[in-house]
Amino acid sequence: MNMHMKDFTEIALELPREVDREVAGDIEKESVFVSPMIDRIIVNSDGKTARLVTRPGADLQVATDKALRFLAVMVRQVSGFEIKVFVDTKRKDTGPYQIGVNDGLVERGWMHDYGKGQVAYSGPVLKLAQLINEKSGQLYHAAFNAIDGHYPAMIDADTLHKCGYFDSHPNAVTFVGNVVEDFDAIEEFRLANSCSEGALMPKQEHIHHDGMCLNPAACFPCYPTLTGQKFVEGQCYTWLGRVFRYESRNINGLDRLYEFNVRELVFVGDEDYVRSCRAKALPIVEELASFIDIDCQVQTATDPFFATVSAAKKFWQAAQEVKNEIKIPALGNDGSQKMLACGSINLHGNFFGKRFDFTCANGEPAQTGCVGLGIERWVLAAFTQHGFEPARWPEAVRNRIFS
Ligand code: ATP
Ligand code: ZN
Ligand code: MG
Repeated sequence: MNMHMKDFTEIALELPREVDREVAGDIEKESVFVSPMIDRIIVNSDGKTARLVTRPGADLQVATDKALRFLAVMVRQVSGFEIKVFVDTKRKDTGPYQIGVNDGLVERGWMHDYGKGQVAYSGPVLKLAQLINEKSGQLYHAAFNAIDGHYPAMIDADTLHKCGYFDSHPNAVTFVGNVVEDFDAIEEFRLANSCSEGALMPKQEHIHHDGMCLNPAACFPCYPTLTGQKFVEGQCYTWLGRVFRYESRNINGLDRLYEFNVRELVFVGDEDYVRSCRAKALPIVEELASFIDIDCQVQTATDPFFATVSAAKKFWQAAQEVKNEIKIPALGNDGSQKMLACGSINLHGNFFGKRFDFTCANGEPAQTGCVGLGIERWVLAAFTQHGFEPARWPEAVRNRIFS
């Protein structure tokens, strides 16, 4: 146990309303964003009480008040919607699920974990990531005649604002900062670092934010490029996007990174076209899962929106069935089985068509939808289900990644 643990204090709390495991999970995940004084909030298995873990030096009264305000909002989430399963593939490999995949990949020298939600990888990990990206790209070309593209890793705050991101996930944004264009400020920063042991950041007042952010959702940079276009027939676009989400202390190996890669597919057209694309995406996920030989499901889902908007947005999403999630069984750090969200299939209605001004055949704002596959999570799930022994992997994959 960490020496400083004794300074962490646990406070028992009663929840304003009983919650199920799904809401409890969202509370725990979002709790790292409640206060710098709060380490996390853990909901007990009764669903009625919780443990507030505060960090060293916390003002317990202030921390508790804030935790209770957060909980009051979070417990209002509606859950328990019927989960519909659209795809359910079963693997042929009969070996056990592999525990400790992240550590195992590091031990084999196939992955380097920088410790802040970033990883480097090579060898079989790199080859598998490339294979999943390539294979899904090929399937998208064949099924949708998708156009290839490339988009920047940074995104303008105005674009994010238009996409509604500050409204739904304000906690996950990363702003890019620069030293202010000031001779003295630049010199002060240079001098301070010329004799320091570690990096010293510029003074707060010497950093300015000119509205650049790191892109937090693969499909966003595509929409500004569509402005002014009329989609008489539908069109699909696909690319490998780099995505950044500030996950705070929730970062965890390949499962929850700050910086990760997403194979994205965006469809644009009228409602029939977009719905038919979503339907066509399901057998593609099935084919990809069979190719890698993994257990995999596609089912209805909702997003864990940040606290204050959570209840309303979640309800809307669940009621409209606009989000399907690709769930692949894997193991938690304690070895228990959990469903890893490895991709989502979303319908956006005409939200982006309206905001970015692009239309379909009848002149109305076009509808859009997207499919995002989290490459690193697919890699983690595949190594969990086949382990490190090449013989257990399907031949086509084995020949590519272990050669
Ligand atoms: P979660 O509930 O696990 O945070 P999410 O609902 O935020 O996932 P989406 O917004 O649907 O995820 O993002 C699309 C895909 O990107 C996810 O299905 C997942 O595969 C991947 N992904 C999301 N966040 C991360 C992360 N922090 N690290 C690695 N992959 C991620
Ligand atoms: Zn998307
Ligand atoms: Mg998330």
